[in-house]
Amino acid sequence: MFDFFRSLFPRPDTPPIAPRAAPPPPGKDEVLTRLAADLLRGLGCDEMAARVAVCWNHRLTSTAGLAKPARAQVVLNPRLRDFPDEVDRTLRHEVAHLVVAAKARGRRVAAHGPEWRGACAALGIPGEDRCHTLPLPKRQMHRPHVYRCPRCAFELRRTRAIKPRTRLACQTCCKQHAGGRFDGRFEFVKVR
Ligand SMILES: [Zn+2]
Ligand SMILES: [Zn+2]
Repeated sequence: MFDFFRSLFPRPDTPPIAPRAAPPPPGKDEVLTRLAADLLRGLGCDEMAARVAVCWNHRLTSTAGLAKPARAQVVLNPRLRDFPDEVDRTLRHEVAHLVVAAKARGRRVAAHGPEWRGACAALGIPGEDRCHTLPLPKRQMHRPHVYRCPRCAFELRRTRAIKPRTRLACQTCCKQHAGGRFDGRFEFVKVR
């Protein structure tokens, strides 16, 4: 009986349990973390801004970046440093995912849907595409043949040249403007 009471009323000299701060995630970039926090606060995501961490991770290969909303983390590929403009763009792309997650509050939202595109526009990268892959020089060397859609300027990279008799058109533009059928107006033009 005595033990029961003691368990209900802890001894007064028991020190309060202090919440222990989590150690910073490996590869954390303080400057980019501050930038990400500013961007998040600018869009009203204060709670996410307080927790956000931007980290470099060497294990990413061709992926430019990742967003981990549950951990309020943005993970970036260190090889992005070879493409200075890409660091900022990729950071904003991933921060847009955090914004969507913060505002969704558990609702299911498409990863690169209208909410994400809206967040991208608000973050200064309107028209951002969903592609997370890096224009890595090695990969480009393996795919030296470059074709461009005359309408949307999408670039197709291939290991081998398109055979002379094969006609290849931009899928996105054919879907949007030709009901999904091949349309010569959107046929790829060889750039290199
Ligand atoms: Zn994305
Ligand atoms: Zn196109």
